[in-house]
Amino acid sequence: MHIILISNNLKKPRTLTLTGVHLVLLAGGGVLASVLFAMGLNYLSLRYADKIDSPSLRSLVSSVQQEEHKKNQSYLRDSLNAMAVRMGQMQAQLLRLDSVGARLAELSGIKPQEFRFNQNPGQGGTVSTLPSEDMSFAEFNSKIQELSLALDDRSDKLGALDSLLMQDRLKKKMLPSVMPVNTKWYSSGFGVRIDPFTGRRIFHEGVDFSAATGTPIVAAAGGVVVYSDFHPEYGNMVDVDHGNDFVSRYAHASKRLVRLGQVVVRGQKIAEVGSTGRSTGPHLHFEVRHKGSPQNPSRFLKMPG
Ligand SMILES: [Zn+2]
Repeated sequence: MHIILISNNLKKPRTLTLTGVHLVLLAGGGVLASVLFAMGLNYLSLRYADKIDSPSLRSLVSSVQQEEHKKNQSYLRDSLNAMAVRMGQMQAQLLRLDSVGARLAELSGIKPQEFRFNQNPGQGGTVSTLPSEDMSFAEFNSKIQELSLALDDRSDKLGALDSLLMQDRLKKKMLPSVMPVNTKWYSSGFGVRIDPFTGRRIFHEGVDFSAATGTPIVAAAGGVVVYSDFHPEYGNMVDVDHGNDFVSRYAHASKRLVRLGQVVVRGQKIAEVGSTGRSTGPHLHFEVRHKGSPQNPSRFLKMPG
């Protein structure tokens, strides 16, 4: 290829002869220059992105950056939303566990001020052995999953324990365990004794509490009144059915204060001490029967101090 250069400075036109080698070198140089230019522009745009004066160039650079930022933001937001939902579920589980725990603590008789289930136990002492480096989202997520499974497991176990204890407590609550009269001890015990009327050995099917006439008689447990009438031997008598085949009997009363079929609560006043029926003086004859057969009431009654 021939290139003829004409200039005022040149006395005569000059002729340049370009061979294939020249062309290749020229093309290579061009490519290199454009690559270097692009790199330089890129460097400058990154280095001085915030100082670029050209509004169009700046908006181009910032739009690329914003796109990138948006992508990261939306990934973060999605992850955070997913974790927030998980956290919410775990918080709900924890609340449930707290209430179960509080009930169990109450059932077990632990003083509430000694054992607050919904408060973190006092911590201190050893430094945590957990790795302290930052966790990735995936690691964090799997840790949350583990924790959630553990919470599920504990709430199942505590729930089962709770219902067992509740049933047990309900049964105990239905047992005649409240002292029917406010007195220290009974005057005549359960079992074989000499009948005060005949002088013969007979089986005494309950216990006698001596107390003044008019002393309140209370239900030893909650239940339904299944007998409230005058009985030729027992005098004014009240029977209370507590369920589970348990019935308590209160005899020789001066006054009956409940009707047949009436529901009474534990400790409710149902009669007053007297000496009606086959009795030698004011006292309460108290019986506990299971499936009709007399039980020793002292097995159930909580004797005061
Ligand atoms: Zn008696």
